[in-house]
Amino acid sequence: MRTLKLTCKHCRREGVSLCGRAKCAFNRRPYAPGVHGPKGKGGRMTDYAKQLREKQKAKRLYGVSEKQFSNYFKKAVSMKGDSGENLVRLLEMRLDNSVFRSGFAKTRAAARQVVSHSHVFVNGKKTDIASFQVKPGDVLRIRDNKREKGLWKNLLEDLKKQETPSWLALNPEEMEAKVTSRPDAEELKQVVFDPKLIIEFYSR
Ligand code: ZN
Repeated sequence: MRTLKLTCKHCRREGVSLCGRAKCAFNRRPYAPGVHGPKGKGGRMTDYAKQLREKQKAKRLYGVSEKQFSNYFKKAVSMKGDSGENLVRLLEMRLDNSVFRSGFAKTRAAARQVVSHSHVFVNGKKTDIASFQVKPGDVLRIRDNKREKGLWKNLLEDLKKQETPSWLALNPEEMEAKVTSRPDAEELKQVVFDPKLIIEFYSR
């Protein structure tokens, strides 16, 4: 599978820190790359350009390919309820994102590695597919023998401070997170992109 390399060039282009790194270049230079200074091209964007930007932003944020992303769209519109909400919920409930939201990794990119390197068990079963959809009742657990290594050394202290979304119940001592529900509409609204524009983009 082709993985999407997220760089701070993307953060700067999308006007939001997508990488989640403390040292994100967007924080130092909060304007698009190649633009000499914060004035930029001004705010006149066509509807299409706005929709495209939101799509790119979301795609890069979750680190999924164009193909995967358009599959999420197809799935979202085929489901009951608001398509935009469905889309965000599908993205949020990816295993790698759930690992990130639980605080087991500092960024989504790191979370993906944690998953693909087989450090995560779901309901006691090794699950190394980043796109795996978690569901209410699932228990995510960091593999025991990985916890002793340097990677997890300071994790416990960080986990105790971790603010998880309401749909995840974190047990830092056990390095376990339980999916208690699905993210509700209010929580789905807190993402940095507008899913409505993305639905419009694919509906053209
Ligand atoms: Zn960045």
